[in-house]
Amino acid sequence: MQLVSDQELRELENSVKGELKYNTPMSEHTTYNIGGPAYIYALPVDKDDVKTLMEFASEHQLPHFNLGGGSNILVHDKGYQGLIIDLKKGFNSIEVEGNIVKAQSGVSLARFVSTCRKHNLAGVEKLAGIPGSLGGALFMNAGAFGSEISQRLKSLSLLLENGEFLELRAIELQFEYRESNLPEGAIILESEFELEQVEDASELYGSSQDIVKERNVKQPVTLPSTGSIFKNPEEGDSAGKLIEDAGLKGTRAGGAMISDKHANFIVNVGKAKAEDVMHLIALAQKTVQDKFGVELELELKLVGFEEWFI
Ligand SMILES: Cc1cc2nc3c(=O)[nH]c(=O)nc-3n(C[C@H](O)[C@H](O)[C@H](O)COP(=O)(O)OP(=O)(O)OC[C@H]3O[C@@H](n4cnc5c(N)ncnc54)[C@H](O)[C@@H]3O)c2cc1C
Repeated sequence: MQLVSDQELRELENSVKGELKYNTPMSEHTTYNIGGPAYIYALPVDKDDVKTLMEFASEHQLPHFNLGGGSNILVHDKGYQGLIIDLKKGFNSIEVEGNIVKAQSGVSLARFVSTCRKHNLAGVEKLAGIPGSLGGALFMNAGAFGSEISQRLKSLSLLLENGEFLELRAIELQFEYRESNLPEGAIILESEFELEQVEDASELYGSSQDIVKERNVKQPVTLPSTGSIFKNPEEGDSAGKLIEDAGLKGTRAGGAMISDKHANFIVNVGKAKAEDVMHLIALAQKTVQDKFGVELELELKLVGFEEWFI
């Protein structure tokens, strides 16, 4: 489907310095290895590029999606009829000054954590092993083992959908469990963190390694997934336990399966389609609701489903 004329696309190409691709399979950009093509896939190199892209999307009523590492999304089999903005190429710098770390959103969370480690900075070691980018981690308020990325955040630099750049201090933001509550469509460009300087980080190295080992034991890390599908319903309650108690571990639909290792993971066991995953999501929600009266809310984000609606 042609959403924008060829001439308008040429004009866009001439006004951004970064790369633009068309009909890019999103299965290549998600940890699930699932998803049809993106109409436009943009790799901006600086803030002005991102602004131009946002303005183009709004002028042409084209939906846009801010992509991080693609580790918490399910993209529709028919793809995304809009503009994907990927910061991985152009927003990759990380600077450390004393106990302050300033990083751009395309930096991987793994690199962020290991940089903090190298500089003997404590506070983010429990996030070791969470895949994806720093921008995605902030948007999702990613966390594990009682720790969340927002806890050490000092400030954020955003570009709003209306093209306005905005600096926000952490106290002006309302982070919750796996929610950042940022303005709709805003893109996080960079962020600043305040960590705790310690003399010797070797103990932290140790705890991070143990955490990664524990993840590898408990989670189906060898199969493509998006991590937890559902949020835990409330403090102390586990979505995985509810799905397991509902007897759904190991249930399959096409190439997707409710993991037999951790029931809050739906894994891609071979050429799964988004449709297969959606089938298992609906099954888990209905069964848990019927058996335990608990509503399971999605943690993963659905991309492209508005257009095709299944
Ligand atoms: C094996 C595995 C284990 C996992 N374990 C955990 C875990 O322990 N804890 C946890 O919290 N999560 C976990 N996850 C989920 C996922 O890794 C996190 O949610 C991660 O922080 C998402 O980052 P991402 O860059 O991949 O974001 P994406 O999946 O690309 O995007 C997720 C959301 O963030 C938005 N976003 C991305 N970048 C930006 C940006 N720059 N500005 C604005 N919005 C943006 C997207 O639009 C989307 O809505 C796991 C996933 C896997 C595959």
